[in-house]
Amino acid sequence: MNFMEQQATLLSMTPNPILLIERCGRVCYKSENRMKCDHQTPTGSCPECLYRAKTFVRRLLKLGHESVLEHAHATFHLITDRGISHEIVRHRLCSYSQESTRYCKYNDIDMIMPEISDHTKPLFDDTMRQVENTYSQMISDGMPPQYARSVLPNCLKTELIMTANFRQWRHILSLRLDDGAHPQIRSLMFQVLDILLNSEASMVFTDLCSS
Ligand SMILES: Cc1cc2nc3c(=O)[nH]c(=O)nc-3n(C[C@H](O)[C@H](O)[C@H](O)COP(=O)(O)OP(=O)(O)OC[C@H]3O[C@@H](n4cnc5c(N)ncnc54)[C@H](O)[C@@H]3O)c2cc1C
Repeated sequence: MNFMEQQATLLSMTPNPILLIERCGRVCYKSENRMKCDHQTPTGSCPECLYRAKTFVRRLLKLGHESVLEHAHATFHLITDRGISHEIVRHRLCSYSQESTRYCKYNDIDMIMPEISDHTKPLFDDTMRQVENTYSQMISDGMPPQYARSVLPNCLKTELIMTANFRQWRHILSLRLDDGAHPQIRSLMFQVLDILLNSEASMVFTDLCSS
């Protein structure tokens, strides 16, 4: 039995996302000609173009013209527990791939440690050891993992790949960073926000931490 921390890792993001969003948005206003760049720099590295694109995208955000953000995507690898993953996959406008308890057989069970009092911790640890023993016994008795999994707890570690467009990430973050969200999903989504705020797309997410 091992206890692990939750973790969010960015796997992939649309290249030059702000320039792409500007390109898509300018079609609406037929102002693509404003994107002409006379500087001989590789795409995405001209400071003047980035400044113009950011100004344009800021205007889209202010107008609430958020559908244009749907052209850019980010894919994250998330490590969390089964309870939190169940909340995450309620978000429908995303693509997911998740570790399967039907096909994966656990010898050593990884779990995410919940916030519990020192007083309850010994009982919690005992219960988890018992869970691990029962699971191992069921597997030794020849039960396939898809049946033995019934005894596994909500705090079982799971891994998900989650892809969503920027508009949907904004929606998810606004719900899951809120004080009313579960502390564990909040903490995981703060990791996601932190990564996005340090990415090329930071300006799309800065307003989420302004209140
Ligand atoms: C604090 C908190 C507590 C919660 N408690 C519970 C609970 O007790 N029980 C429970 O069952 N769930 C609970 N949820 C989950 C919640 O009800 C939503 O299922 C979840 O947050 C997914 O968000 P969403 O529905 O906004 O949209 P997403 O699936 O993320 O979709 C994004 C947006 O697309 C639009 N959309 C998507 N699908 C449709 C559709 N079919 N029709 C119309 N518009 C659509 C909506 O505008 C939606 O906001 C809770 C969520 C939070 C944040």
